Amino acid sequence: MLQIQQYIKSASLDEAYELLQKNRNNQILGGMIWLKMQDRNIPVAIDCSDLLSDEIIEQEDGFLIGAMTSLRTLETHPALNAWCQNMLCDSVKDIVGVQLRNMATLGGSLYSRFGFSDVLCAFLALDTTVYFHHAGAVKIEDFVKGHGERDIVTHVFVKKEALKAAFRCVRRSATDLSVLNVAAARTENEYRMVVGATPKCAKRYSYSLDMSKEEIASSLKEKVECASNLRGSAQYRKELVYACALKALAAIEEDSYAG
Ligand SMILES: Cc1cc2nc3c(=O)[nH]c(=O)nc-3n(C[C@H](O)[C@H](O)[C@H](O)COP(=O)(O)OP(=O)(O)OC[C@H]3O[C@@H](n4cnc5c(N)ncnc54)[C@H](O)[C@@H]3O)c2cc1C
Repeated sequence: MLQIQQYIKSASLDEAYELLQKNRNNQILGGMIWLKMQDRNIPVAIDCSDLLSDEIIEQEDGFLIGAMTSLRTLETHPALNAWCQNMLCDSVKDIVGVQLRNMATLGGSLYSRFGFSDVLCAFLALDTTVYFHHAGAVKIEDFVKGHGERDIVTHVFVKKEALKAAFRCVRRSATDLSVLNVAAARTENEYRMVVGATPKCAKRYSYSLDMSKEEIASSLKEKVECASNLRGSAQYRKELVYACALKALAAIEEDSYAG
């Protein structure tokens, strides 16, 4: 059971950051969907909901997304999803149900760096910068390597670039976590392929535009390290890397492809 000794609604991000540093068990509260399932003791739960935006603002060069933005807002934002051909919508739409997606936040989803995360997998395929209160701007490729520990995610910026993108995942049953997920983006210079839930944290790979989708999928199958857990064996995941990558690439190459 989760136990919270003290709840503080911070007056400023400086105060919240200071509280966070005081004890390694102090926690920033996102939507609390994950936290509330845990068996742990939190000395100070820090509520920054009045200080962090829950909105997506479209700018000329990109999308500014507040840390308190819900997964449901990501799923339903018309401009963001029109720009990425629903890739972000597809990455979150199967996460449990609308009620959970209305509560779970982008900040909590990214900060947790879950190996299974569909959200992290999708954002890693985009030109994403994660902003922290203390560390400032961190490219998402560095963020997945562990930058920004014990800091506050304030917002995320996704740069608008000419791309076609798609997301594919496999779940053993609806609402379960992904056995494997793949996000693909074709930009003007490269194919960005992201594979997550291996079951380790998502990782990005680059491929040249002159490679065929079969070549990319085969190369990924060879490169991506998979392991076994209760959702699938390493060998099964390897096969899924190939199948999901091929489906995602087909989806971005053929508008009519149903996946
Ligand atoms: C039953 C269940 C099923 C799920 N299935 C999936 C799934 O299929 N795919 C998927 O991708 N995800 C899934 N998730 C994860 C979910 O999408 C969210 O990622 C998760 O709930 C964390 O978001 P939150 O807002 O609830 O964070 P919280 O639970 O509030 O916080 C999680 C962690 O992040 C920290 N944190 C929160 N906000 C910030 C911030 N702004 N700055 C710094 N640290 C912060 C907290 O201190 C805590 O350590 C599932 C979750 C649950 C409970």
